[in-house]
Amino acid sequence: MTIPIAIEPVSRNDAGIAAALPLLARRFGERFAQSEAVRQQHGHTLTWLTNQPPDGVVFVESTEEVVDIVRICGEHRVPIIPFGAGSSLEGHLNAPGGGISIDFTHMKRVIAVHGEDLDCVIEPGITHYELNEYLRDTGLFFPIDPGAEASLGGMAATRASGTNAVRYGTMRDNVINLTAVMPDGSVVKTGNRAKKSSAGYDLARLLIGSEGTLGVITELTLKLHGIPEAISGGVCPFPTVEDACNAVIMTIQSGIPVARIELLDALQVKACNAYSKLDLEEVPTLFVEFHGSPASVAEQSEGFGHIAAEFGAGTFIWETSAEARNKLWKARHDVYWACVGLRPGAKAIATDACVPISRLAECVGETVADIEKTGLVAPIVGHVGDGNFHVTMLLDIGDADEVERAAGFVGRLNMRAIAMDGTCTGEHGVGQGKMKYLAAEHGAGVAVMRTIKRAIDPDNIMNPGKIIAAN
Ligand SMILES: Cc1cc2nc3c(=O)[nH]c(=O)nc-3n(C[C@H](O)[C@H](O)[C@H](O)COP(=O)(O)OP(=O)(O)OC[C@H]3O[C@@H](n4cnc5c(N)ncnc54)[C@H](O)[C@@H]3O)c2cc1C
Repeated sequence: MTIPIAIEPVSRNDAGIAAALPLLARRFGERFAQSEAVRQQHGHTLTWLTNQPPDGVVFVESTEEVVDIVRICGEHRVPIIPFGAGSSLEGHLNAPGGGISIDFTHMKRVIAVHGEDLDCVIEPGITHYELNEYLRDTGLFFPIDPGAEASLGGMAATRASGTNAVRYGTMRDNVINLTAVMPDGSVVKTGNRAKKSSAGYDLARLLIGSEGTLGVITELTLKLHGIPEAISGGVCPFPTVEDACNAVIMTIQSGIPVARIELLDALQVKACNAYSKLDLEEVPTLFVEFHGSPASVAEQSEGFGHIAAEFGAGTFIWETSAEARNKLWKARHDVYWACVGLRPGAKAIATDACVPISRLAECVGETVADIEKTGLVAPIVGHVGDGNFHVTMLLDIGDADEVERAAGFVGRLNMRAIAMDGTCTGEHGVGQGKMKYLAAEHGAGVAVMRTIKRAIDPDNIMNPGKIIAAN
């Protein structure tokens, strides 16, 4: 069936692609794949957007190899689509005009850890789980933790965040510098390891969130953080999602430096109970965690307890052991799979929006009412300390009416968030799926973005058909 989402068309340069393919095959041998299965796997495979595979995939091993690909593709005006772990949700990896996917799964090296400066230098293919595994014995960690096993390159390119962002920031805040291959084949390093700099335009911040449309990231210097001396947390049930959201709003407004504060609505709790073998009361619930010294953690927990009680919270269940806490957060990270289990055979379509914290309860409340009115099976979960929440719709993709209703719901959700001075995506990014909301969110800013794109990538070879239309 046709999904009611308009995809930006990109014209296909058949002659250029035909010329580039044998050059890439000669240069990369077995590391250049053209089989249908590999190509399809490198197009968009999640959600409801159509799979648009590239013409070939190169498994790269160095910046120099990326330069060679960019030069070959640039000369023949062939699109280039960088590929990290393939977990993006808005059609970011599709190749609407064909082209070459650059796969970074062989570039996973940790080049340096500078413990004394709290930073590390890495290749973009390493995932956040793998990096933290590598850092395990250093007393340091990297906090950004999207719910999928995403690569750091893909996370930088989508300006990703996760459960810890309320305390530690997003990828925007945790990249010190990066190296990128630009569309003309030049290699640009955006800065040194100083924690701050006033020296010129901030090219790192321009590339972070650019989704492969301006350049290909081949190295990143990231901020690291000390593993906190004390961690405490648990789960707190509430009568309604509005009560839970109001408790979050007051917690943030009171300046309690909560490390994680995640909302699960009653349906999401039910899904997690079944999938992750929890036995939580199936009502709106906050998962919370505090980091710091033992004294500060105790103080933060007490402060949160008072606020939660004001909004009718039930009994707070403290998880004192690391094992029990890890089980909870593992369940939080597995919500996507828990959702899939709610309606076997259904397709899970996750969408996200984000509003200023003061509008959170209102936005989530209106969204809950909309879900009920639209008749969708769609649990809500979210990094609510940032005003960010996700709706995972479980759809019978063969039911045209249901799909139409879901598309209408997503449109209203995005416009609701924008109308509340928020954004159509707090962390998943634009890709193909959210392009149509950018004008409403950025107005004349979209034309400035297009000017930047044209100046840096005049032949539109870097991930065309994403974020903004070329014309
Ligand atoms: C179950 C699930 C849970 C999720 N939870 C979260 C969440 O909590 N927070 C969140 O932010 N996101 C979340 N996501 C979305 C996704 O994980 C993020 O967008 C993530 O940052 C994508 O990383 P990736 O390595 O998979 O990138 P990919 O999907 O491979 O690529 C994403 C985009 O980045 C570009 N790109 C990749 N590598 C590079 C590079 N080296 N240079 C330039 N461009 C590059 C690609 O071209 C593409 O446009 C979730 C997804 C799933 C499936």
